[in-house]
Amino acid sequence: MKQLTRLACLLLTALLLLGSFSSQFTPDLSGVKLQEGLAEYSDVSTEPVDNYRTWYEIFVYSFCDSDGDGIGDLQGVISKLDYLQELGVNGIWLMPIHPSPTYHKYDVTDYYAIDPQYGTMADFEALMEQCRERDISVILDLVLNHTGVDHPWFREAEAYLQSLEPGREPDAAQCPYVDYYFFSPSQVNGDYYGVEGTDWFYEGKFWSGMPDLNLENEDLREEIRNIMAFWMEKGVVGFRLDAAKEYFSGQPSRNIQVLNFLTQTAKSINPDAYLVAEVWEGFSTIADYYQSGIPSIFNFAFGDSSGKITAVLRAVDNEKTVSSFATAQEKADKAYRANNPDYIDAPFLSNHDTGRIAGFCNREENKMKLAAAMNLMMSGSAFVYYGEELGMAGSGNDPSKRAPMLWNEARDAGTTNPPPECQLPEEYPLGSLEIQREQEYSIFRYYQQAIALRRENPVISHGIPTAETALNANCVSATRKTWGEESCLILMNISTEEKQCDLTGYEVFTLAGTLTVDERGVTQTGNQLILPPYAVAVLCN
Ligand code: CA
Repeated sequence: MKQLTRLACLLLTALLLLGSFSSQFTPDLSGVKLQEGLAEYSDVSTEPVDNYRTWYEIFVYSFCDSDGDGIGDLQGVISKLDYLQELGVNGIWLMPIHPSPTYHKYDVTDYYAIDPQYGTMADFEALMEQCRERDISVILDLVLNHTGVDHPWFREAEAYLQSLEPGREPDAAQCPYVDYYFFSPSQVNGDYYGVEGTDWFYEGKFWSGMPDLNLENEDLREEIRNIMAFWMEKGVVGFRLDAAKEYFSGQPSRNIQVLNFLTQTAKSINPDAYLVAEVWEGFSTIADYYQSGIPSIFNFAFGDSSGKITAVLRAVDNEKTVSSFATAQEKADKAYRANNPDYIDAPFLSNHDTGRIAGFCNREENKMKLAAAMNLMMSGSAFVYYGEELGMAGSGNDPSKRAPMLWNEARDAGTTNPPPECQLPEEYPLGSLEIQREQEYSIFRYYQQAIALRRENPVISHGIPTAETALNANCVSATRKTWGEESCLILMNISTEEKQCDLTGYEVFTLAGTLTVDERGVTQTGNQLILPPYAVAVLCN
C-alpha cells in the first residue's frame, strides 16, 4: 500500500513537471526557456503570518460604487475583494473613511464614525469580516496632525474663546479643548489663522480648514488611545499615520516622541499592531525617525518621481546608476536597521499625493513593469497604489492623481465619477482591467506574477538586502537577501540589451522565478543565465 502511494506521488510529480514549466520544479534548467504563470500555480502556504505584507492603497471615493450615486463606497470595496485576491495582495490601506466635508476626507469631524458617502458602520463591519475570512489585513488612515475645522473639539474651543472677555487667558479646566490645539494671542507665523470674533489665532499648517492638534496634550492622547482601541476592536491591525513630520513642524525630535507614544499605545492594545508613518523626507531623516520604534515609515527615498526607482529607470543602460539601486538598498537598510532592528521597510512607487508611475516613465510600458518589480522585490511591506497595476495615468492637481479605477472600457460596472476638479487623461496608456486580463503580457498580469513571486518566496520581503558586488555590474542590478538560513539573489536587467550573468560560484542558488516584459524568457545554460531586456530573475538557496 505504501509503495502504491509513493508511486502515485511520483506519477503526480511527473505530471506536475510536465504540466508546468514553473522553475520551482525544474532543477535542471539547461537551455530550457522559462515561462511565468506563477500566479496560476501560486503556493503561499509557507508564508509567515505577520505584517510583511503586500499592501494595496485604496481611495474609496474612486474605487468602486455599489449603489449608483457615482461615489465609491465600502460595499464597493467588499465587491472587489475577489479582485484583490486575484491580484494577490494581502493587505489594504483605506484612505480616510471618517465623516469629513471634503471629497478626500483628510479633515476629520468624527474619528468614531463612517462618512455616510461611504456607507455605514455595518458596512465597515461586513468588510472586516470578509477580510478576516480571506486573511487580508486592514489599516486605516489615521489623521492626527489636525482635525477638520468642524470637529466638535475645535468648535467647542472656538465657542469658548468667543465667550471669553478680551484679555483673559483661556482655562483648560473650563474647556479642555483649548489645549487640544495651538491657540495663540499673536499670529505666530503664516500658518496661523484668526478665530472669528476674537483676538485669538490657531495653527493650521495645511490650510485654515485643518487646525493642528497638540499631540503632547495628555487628554488628547487619551482620546487617541480610545480611537485606536475602537477600530482595533473592529479588527484593523493598525494605522497609516498621516503627515507625521508636521506634528511639530520643523521639530523632528518632538515628532519622534509622538510616534513613540503612538507605537507604544497601539502595541499595548495589540502586540502585533502595525503602524506606518508618512514622513515625506529623504533617507537620512527617515532613518532618524526610526528611533521612535515605529514598525514602518514609507520609504520616500525610493518612491515618488524623485526617488531612487524613478532615477534608475530614467537612466536605463547607464551602468553606474543601475548599480546604485542595489547599493542604495543596502545603505538605507543599514541606516534604518541601526535605529530600529525590527523595522519593516515600506517601499512604494506612488500614492495619492504623487503623480503616477506612467508619468514618471513617460508611459513606456517596459519601464512601468520593471518599476513594479523594483518595488515588489524590495524588502519589507511593499505598497501598491490602486490603479498602478493597470498603469493608469494621473498627474497635475490632487484629484487628478485620484482618478476612478478603470474596471472596464464602458466605464460602468462600479466605475465611480471622477472626484471634483479631476482632469481625466484623454486616454489611458494600457487600457482597463477588462482588456488587460485577456492579455498575456499586460502590466496587470505582470503585477500578479511579481506579487506571487514575492509571496511564494518570503526571503524576498523578510531578507536583509546587500548589493551582490560580483554580479552588480554591466547594467544588471544584483541584490542578495539574507533571512536566517535562507538567502536569494535578485537579478534585474535594467537595460535595453540582453545580458549574460556568470553564476559560477553561485551553484547553491537555483531559479525560483522570473519576470519578463514580453515573450522573451530567461534562459540558463550551465552557469550562464541569459536575461532579456528588462527581465528579472530570482534565485534562492
Ligand atoms: Ca456609492
